[in-house]
Amino acid sequence: MKFWNSTLRSMDEYIPGEQPSNLDEYIKLNTNENPFPPSEKVMKAIIENVTPNLRRYPDSKASRVRAIFAEQNNISPENIFVGNGSDEIFTLIFRGFIEKTGLAAFPYPSYALYDTLAQGNGIKFKKIAMDKSLTVDMDKFLEEKYDMVIIANPNNPTGTYISTARIKHFLTNFKGLLVVDEAYIDFYGGSAIGLINEYDNIIVTRSFSKSYSLAGLRVGLAIANGDIIKGLLKIKDSYNVDALALAGAEAALLDTRSFEYNISMLRNNKEYLEERLSSMGFEIIPSRANFVFTKHPSIDSKMLYEKLKEEKILIRYFSGPIQSEYVRISIGTMMEIKKLCQAIASILEGV
Ligand code: PMP
Repeated sequence: MKFWNSTLRSMDEYIPGEQPSNLDEYIKLNTNENPFPPSEKVMKAIIENVTPNLRRYPDSKASRVRAIFAEQNNISPENIFVGNGSDEIFTLIFRGFIEKTGLAAFPYPSYALYDTLAQGNGIKFKKIAMDKSLTVDMDKFLEEKYDMVIIANPNNPTGTYISTARIKHFLTNFKGLLVVDEAYIDFYGGSAIGLINEYDNIIVTRSFSKSYSLAGLRVGLAIANGDIIKGLLKIKDSYNVDALALAGAEAALLDTRSFEYNISMLRNNKEYLEERLSSMGFEIIPSRANFVFTKHPSIDSKMLYEKLKEEKILIRYFSGPIQSEYVRISIGTMMEIKKLCQAIASILEGV
């Protein structure tokens, strides 16, 4: 730590879910990845781009991905930024869009990376606790003068969702910058993208890691007013998204049939998991994402997590108020879900 500055020394580390090296031995339902592989067309497009041209730099403005997404969503390419995962976009937002003296706010529980990035940039923040139903009361973000508010919608780890009408109403009263992290929006729809034409203080972010099965590729989008996009382009690393990632992202956007099939399978599997869990007595928070947040009255959530891990099934347990009562389970393949439910049933028999 000799050369670490004081901010780095004092900040908390972001702890991602376990990624075991012997991956094939596990049923991995802990990091909200998509259980299905990327589409054939996407894998083909990536492989086709492994050519001598890799000696050249990629398109620094990701023009084709922006053009395709713009056309599909009836917006202009000037309203779109392509990042190295949505995580990079949050980093850039903290670096370029809030003063060091500013105050940020996020709901709690939510995606812990927001805290890490705020700390890493020396920006003060408040965490606004959710109510018992685990939804966000947006009015609480108007009680103080916040320069930036970030909400994940649907939220991670709860899966709960705030309507676009509610976000719009919030924006009529909020003067700071609102970031709506839509990493999980594709599973059930209801995006706030339409608000970018009306409000210049909203950034919507998207991820290719969940609905497009491309967590390993690292691609995310920001959608916002042109002035914000210009700022993001100005502050980004020169070539922030590599050529293979751009090729994969383009193909993923174009392969709408595989995308829709993937989503419908996931929704089907989620319904099945929810039915099985509730028949075993679990309480399930209504989720619009590819995971469920759940707890059982007769087993401690940490113990459930540990016992499943012994069976080589990984789910997510978070320590801390409210969230430690629950576990978060990512939706897997049907076979994975069946094995998980069998394992849970036998754990419950033993308590
Ligand atoms: N936002 C939320 C709410 C998430 O849960 C995650 C995944 N952990 C991300 C963003 C990260 O997305 P990406 O892989 O695009 O960086």
